[in-house]
Amino acid sequence: MIIDGTQIAAGIQKELIHDVKRLKDEHHLTPGLTTILVGDDSASRVYVSMKKKACKKIGIYYEEHTFPGDAKEEEIVRLIQRLNQDERIHGILVQLPLPSHLDESSVLCSITPQKDVDGFHPVNMGKLLTGDEGMAPCTPSGIITLLEKMGIEVAGKRAVVVGRSNIVGKPVAVMLLNRDATVTICHSNTKDLGQYTRQADILVVAIGRAKFITEDMVREGVAVIDVGINRVGGKLCGDVDFERVKKKASAITPVPGGVGPMTVAMLMKNTVTAAKNTLK
Ligand code: NDP
Repeated sequence: MIIDGTQIAAGIQKELIHDVKRLKDEHHLTPGLTTILVGDDSASRVYVSMKKKACKKIGIYYEEHTFPGDAKEEEIVRLIQRLNQDERIHGILVQLPLPSHLDESSVLCSITPQKDVDGFHPVNMGKLLTGDEGMAPCTPSGIITLLEKMGIEVAGKRAVVVGRSNIVGKPVAVMLLNRDATVTICHSNTKDLGQYTRQADILVVAIGRAKFITEDMVREGVAVIDVGINRVGGKLCGDVDFERVKKKASAITPVPGGVGPMTVAMLMKNTVTAAKNTLK
């Protein structure tokens, strides 16, 4: 079973179009998202333009702010403080990575947790740990949604997450734990990685190394979620050796067309949720 993230994301976008229309008609409320891009990274520009396109399609108000690569932290934080007060804006997203002279953590912390649609603010991370997933990070939410939509049961299953970043590995491990999986987290210091990955009923891989997970590292019937995005010879591929591993897997996400489209869909969903929260 190849998990079609593009199709599932399109279904979520359709639901959101309906939600946004209702918010406009019944509450005169248009959800608004703003992105902040610092510097000239070409991949970041592509990601920002995908978000802009999705907003347009769904009917979300969109605003873009760009800074030169040598921008001062105070300038960016000042803008964020203004956007925190702006009633048209319900979600503020700082496109990562930031240039190295900027302190990523202090920039992200200046976003009010209510508008932190990326779910990276320590308040939202802390809530996630306690089981409140109101504003969960987008890629992990997308992974959980894929599992749900494909009818892949999580409770009682052995889940192995390879990678422990704050944006993917750690939060997805917590979300699987919140759903009663027995979770193992692996990283670059894990000895004999295959010993763990072979135990997985659900294997989530987020490391950023092309085709790193090979068929001998998985067991028959595993559900594989490949988060990795790598460029090899001008083509995109995941962290999993898709062609070989798919023969053993009961379900697997392709790259591209798996987790990627879900990340954008979940960002849109968080923005709509943040707008709805202002009605409470
Ligand atoms: P990071 O570089 O922040 O983290 C990578 C993690 O992988 C680290 O925890 C690292 O361990 C671990 N790792 C590296 N090498 C190995 C190894 N040989 N064995 C076991 N673990 C290893 O990456 P991200 O989490 O940000 O992203 C991971 C991948 O997912 C990238 O390819 C990225 O492009 C992609 N991505 C895709 C998204 C999507 O929407 N599809 C969204 C976000 C990311 P350690 O902590 O010990 O260094």
